[in-house]
Amino acid sequence: MSPVIPACPNRFAGLSRALDRSSERRGDAAWIAARAHGAQAGYLLLDANGEAFLERDRAALRVLDDAERERLLPSLVPSFLGMLGDRTWFLLALDAASDAEALAAALHARRMGLRAAGLLLDAEQAALFAYAKGLAHWQRETRFCPYCGGPLLLVAAGHRAECTNADCARLQFPRVDAAVIMLVEHEGACLLGRQTGWPPGRWSTLAGFVEPGEALEDAVRREVAEESGVIVDAVHYHSSQPWPLPASLMVGFMATAASRAIAMRDLELEAARWFTPQEIADGIADGSFVPSTALSISHRLLADWLQQRAGLDLAALMAAAPAP
Ligand SMILES: [Zn+2]
Repeated sequence: MSPVIPACPNRFAGLSRALDRSSERRGDAAWIAARAHGAQAGYLLLDANGEAFLERDRAALRVLDDAERERLLPSLVPSFLGMLGDRTWFLLALDAASDAEALAAALHARRMGLRAAGLLLDAEQAALFAYAKGLAHWQRETRFCPYCGGPLLLVAAGHRAECTNADCARLQFPRVDAAVIMLVEHEGACLLGRQTGWPPGRWSTLAGFVEPGEALEDAVRREVAEESGVIVDAVHYHSSQPWPLPASLMVGFMATAASRAIAMRDLELEAARWFTPQEIADGIADGSFVPSTALSISHRLLADWLQQRAGLDLAALMAAAPAP
């Protein structure tokens, strides 16, 4: 039996409670090889678009064992992910030339992206998929040295890329792009925005990437000012979420505005406005307000705020909403 991630409110987060990444072993080729060919090896397969292979008839990853890997994908070099319970996990990332459809048929599997699978798989497998997807994306996008242009070679069981130009030999490391996401409130109302092209009624918390020279709190204040013109006063950390779509870490905050004056500056949003808890509850009930899905930290920021400010249960409100 493998340990299970304790109830962790943010999807894809909390994997370190169960998974031992054993990063100190990544450079030990003999140890990695022994694990890769062991009976406990489990291979998580991703296609070139980062979609995972799932069992056809149940909500679970279609995990390959070593014999299947040898038979179907003998030339693919696996990346070591870590140990979870009695299983040692490896990533197998297909390239664009691979026939993913034929492979899915051979494995009696179906392919699914992280957004859909993230709401379907259990917390542990969803988080493993997110980890593997982030690593595979970096490997696929990082093939030439940014200094000299030389080809890169994956080392450290897939977690480093080394320049093959001996005069350079620089190392590249998997990158994670920090993004801030924040629920801004002012005297009982919260600030939400919507982007052009979103489904009717969809409103979400504001968000944006951290820039060089910024602390996370600086990024919160700048993004809110640029997108809505609202001046942010206090900023408090809430929680974070891996978001490998394709390479982000979402860092969530609760913030307080100095006033309600809105003046759109960068036109990144189609609209921004203040909502009271009652307006949100009424909007969900009549179908005019559509929160983001339970996959995202935006959903949790809003859920926590509604609970704390008005005792409202977002999940219950959505369950009672009319079908879209
Ligand atoms: Zn180089």
